[in-house]
Amino acid sequence: MIIIMKPNASQEAIQKIAGQIEGKGLQVHLSEGHEVTIVGVVGDKSRLHGINFEIADGVDKVVAVTESYKLANRKFHPDASTVPVGNTSIGPDTLTIMAGPCAVESREQLLETAHAVKKAGASFLRGGAYKPRTSPYSFQGLEEEGLKYMKEAREATGLAVICEVTSQHAIEAAVKYVDMLQIGARNMQNFELLKEAGKAGIPVLLKRGLSATIDEWLNAAEYIMSEGNEYVVLCERGIRTYETSTRNTLDISAVPVLRGKTHLPVIVDPSHATGVRAYVPPLAKCAIAAGADGLMIEVHPNPACALSDGPQSLTFGQFEQLTEDLRPYARLEGRNL
Ligand code: PEP
Ligand code: MN
Repeated sequence: MIIIMKPNASQEAIQKIAGQIEGKGLQVHLSEGHEVTIVGVVGDKSRLHGINFEIADGVDKVVAVTESYKLANRKFHPDASTVPVGNTSIGPDTLTIMAGPCAVESREQLLETAHAVKKAGASFLRGGAYKPRTSPYSFQGLEEEGLKYMKEAREATGLAVICEVTSQHAIEAAVKYVDMLQIGARNMQNFELLKEAGKAGIPVLLKRGLSATIDEWLNAAEYIMSEGNEYVVLCERGIRTYETSTRNTLDISAVPVLRGKTHLPVIVDPSHATGVRAYVPPLAKCAIAAGADGLMIEVHPNPACALSDGPQSLTFGQFEQLTEDLRPYARLEGRNL
């Protein structure tokens, strides 16, 4: 349920309502927009039985929120959110580019890539230190050693750094070294992991599950947010369909659909969506046109020798060309790149 206050509602009226809700053991989420304040109610609203907020001082109207996700819901927070990460942010005014290798393979590989993507215009370095591989015999990541290189790359370039976490242990290690946690597609509904990420105290990028509906995805975001972490960014990375010519099928419609349902920023990963280097540039442009707040792109100094996801990784030259080509698209959408 949300309580929409009148434009001229006093702070006293707002606080009185918030106090009544909290007094019944429910949580209050205040969204102070340009014109109106919205009081969001989280919890079992049957406890509010007998209180008629419709006639309370300063209230315009009371609206039921039927969706099971509340904090992630656009009805709770009508303005698009900006998520601050390190000394940068992800939101409606910018086009955030996260780029880097699928996996951190060595100190040299990571630092070289960090300098190259920074020069081309990325504001984030991505790199996996804990790799959720389909086969247990594939390269599993450098773990904490990889995180140390991520931190070193941040110090050397000023880029914000993001790394996937696959367990509570990985979260505990990652928060010491990176600016943002990534929950990968395979863990989107690992609810215990989501709760731990919600307690980690740093922003979280939540990738869409391999076969997750948008509703399931937003409920996964709610798991993180309900632990007190409001800084969640969603990443569309393709879903499983019957089509086999690409690794996954990029659901570009997810971007405008999410826009209507949530205030959280949305980015697109055309690398994992397609698995094919040549398809990354056209879909990156498409994502910007659809309204994405950013892109995640895999880049490797020598894709032919990459320990994972080489076929979809761009070379430094290809990535530089891509960011150059994306600038007019970003401008057209009123975003800084
Ligand atoms: C990744 O970003 O490295 C990754 C494994 O992606 P996804 O979880 O989307 O498959
Ligand atoms: Mn990858």
